[in-house]
Amino acid sequence: MGKTLLIAEKPSVGQDLARVLPGPFQKHTGAGDKTARWLEGPEHAISWAVGHLVQLAEPDEYDDKFKKWRMADLPIVPDRFKLVVRDERSQKQMTVVRSLLRSGDYERVVNACDAGREGELIFAYLYEKAGAKLPVERLWLNSMTESAIREGLQHLRDGAEQKRLEQAARSRSEADWIVGMNATRAATIRLRSSFDGAVSLGRVQTPTLAIMTRREEEIRAFVPQRYWEVQAGFATVDGREYEGTWNAPKGESFLERAERISSADAAEKIVAAVEGRSGQITKLEKTSKKQQPPLLFDLTSLQREANNRFGFTARRTLGAAQRCYDEHKVLTYPRTSSRYLTSDMVAEIKPTAALVGRHAPYSDAAAHIAALDLLPLRRVVDDAKVGDHHAIIPTNAEHRLDKLGDDDRRIYDLVTRRFLAVFQPDSVSENTRVETTVEGHLFRTSGRVLVVPGWRAIDAAEGRDSELPKLEQGEDVDTREARSEEKETKPPGRYSDASLLGAMETAGKLVDDEELREAMKESGIGTPATRAAIIERVIDVGYVERDRTALVPTEKGMNVIRLLDDHALTRPDLTGEWEHRLARIEAGEETREQFMKDIAAFAGETVGQLDTTLKDVRIPRENLGPCPVCGQDIMENRKGYSCWSREDPGCGFVIWKSKAGKQMAPAVARELIRAGRTAKQVTGFRGRSGRPFRAKLALEQTPEGKWRVEFDEAWAKEGAKTPEQDEAEAAAAAAGGQDAAAA
Ligand SMILES: [Zn+2]
Repeated sequence: MGKTLLIAEKPSVGQDLARVLPGPFQKHTGAGDKTARWLEGPEHAISWAVGHLVQLAEPDEYDDKFKKWRMADLPIVPDRFKLVVRDERSQKQMTVVRSLLRSGDYERVVNACDAGREGELIFAYLYEKAGAKLPVERLWLNSMTESAIREGLQHLRDGAEQKRLEQAARSRSEADWIVGMNATRAATIRLRSSFDGAVSLGRVQTPTLAIMTRREEEIRAFVPQRYWEVQAGFATVDGREYEGTWNAPKGESFLERAERISSADAAEKIVAAVEGRSGQITKLEKTSKKQQPPLLFDLTSLQREANNRFGFTARRTLGAAQRCYDEHKVLTYPRTSSRYLTSDMVAEIKPTAALVGRHAPYSDAAAHIAALDLLPLRRVVDDAKVGDHHAIIPTNAEHRLDKLGDDDRRIYDLVTRRFLAVFQPDSVSENTRVETTVEGHLFRTSGRVLVVPGWRAIDAAEGRDSELPKLEQGEDVDTREARSEEKETKPPGRYSDASLLGAMETAGKLVDDEELREAMKESGIGTPATRAAIIERVIDVGYVERDRTALVPTEKGMNVIRLLDDHALTRPDLTGEWEHRLARIEAGEETREQFMKDIAAFAGETVGQLDTTLKDVRIPRENLGPCPVCGQDIMENRKGYSCWSREDPGCGFVIWKSKAGKQMAPAVARELIRAGRTAKQVTGFRGRSGRPFRAKLALEQTPEGKWRVEFDEAWAKEGAKTPEQDEAEAAAAAAGGQDAAAA
């Protein structure tokens, strides 16, 4: 039998394959190059991509005329898509891979890229660009342990079997190109007078942005309303103490809540009526509540959990989970959308639990599993709910935890605890509801105590006890104190990575029920594997900024969605429907041709709609009030805020919009003009290293009398005047220091 060529997705995986295949392997570099590019053994050669080596060409590679962005040329829909090597670095590796594929030394090639849609695409593009003709087989791995690789190599899949996955992968890639290129060009051409640079639109990024800006509109339109609450402290005859909150009689609630009171007067009257008086416990109810363990993790639920618990971004969690998979080999394949295992994995559960149980934090829960005669599998195993990959669990191998970095260790810990938790008993908590009546006024108190920890002992999701002393119905109590508190209603919260991932999974619909979420999975925005990149994308193009864990739309992001109005491109459910069709192509239930035809039609319609609706759009220039120097109105223009106008050049006062990687919003400029400084730190600046930071700003005058915007922070003032870039660097360092202190 002739030799086999294997192509992995990255170099480290190539090394792993070499460890399992018959050696010895020799390292080879490219011509005039020191980097290892492939490994040659007695029966196999192994090379690799470095991520996406080959990608779809830009429009101007089809025709020079597309270098100019013109409405008349749209929509651009290639009959056949051209491929190009991504960059010069990729070219070096591609040259080697191409010559291996075409050398005639190999009888077949094994696609050993990651086992998913993207891995399929990386290989398909590379194979096509190289003009390769070798028969293809597929290595399909769920775990990177040596035994799993060995097993996978013995059961290579037929390349033709993978054809449908490749069709879905190509369709996804081409659909994104067609919608993105055309919508972006059309919007950019029409909005040239309003925006600097391109107005980036896309099949998945635009609906994702719309979810966030619609929430932001709600927050901005929100008018907080004042209300009052009355709290009282009670004590029984022998001194057991507890607190209660006043509640209105049935049907008399204010702002939809029974505990809200409409005026300070009314609240004070209640305080006066009950303070120092005696009352009685008129009702006491105890209920016990059982709770099942949560489901195993898929990537999205893992990203949400890590964001809620540690503030990790979706990308950071994916990075750590990927390292746990391919570097440390302690977790199974992370880019999965399944929360179940297959029935043929049941035999591995106990051995895996025993192996992870060797490490102290997991030993008790692992011992419980070892002692079970019958594993509770109803919510763990479901063949119908496992597609290409099962849920993320620890691998059936020995784990060297001391090798894991901090992030990797935390992600490993979440996954391992969850894996152990699903086999533990239900948790039971006891909830107590108390009603205390004083002078006809009703106060409510509730308490919660965990009586049987069950799975919570190992997978401690948040949830604090609020323990009450032992109380009896009918008991007399004294009202020791009573006080009224002024409060106001709060707007809905901004999205975090966790809540946005949740919204993307259900295409913008609010769904709390875990099992209902499961059913909607195939029609979400993007796939689990791509969601982290989508979030980073809307940040990179300047539509959204991170403010600690909150994702805050910028003015530009808000305006883009406002201008698109209700255009289909902003609708999460439309993207969700497309995602569902891609899944159907993968399952062989729909043809790629029909899908691409519909996408091309959509792109054509979109170009037409953007052309007409955006034709006469002028984003009104903001008037920011009188110039502090000459008193003329300061207006917003493309690059800054100044007292210049066509009729009058003004005095030269200007606040430039661009500072340290951020476009300053009119509200910030207005505050600077009015007050000379910002009261709060402004977010979204970036240091030279790309690290985000926040800073207060102040308007300061140079010795020559020019006004400049400076960072109003201690770190910006030390030493002599520094150029802008050094400031940014210092700022990044300062921001880094703060992060480290907070971590
Ligand atoms: Zn002026």
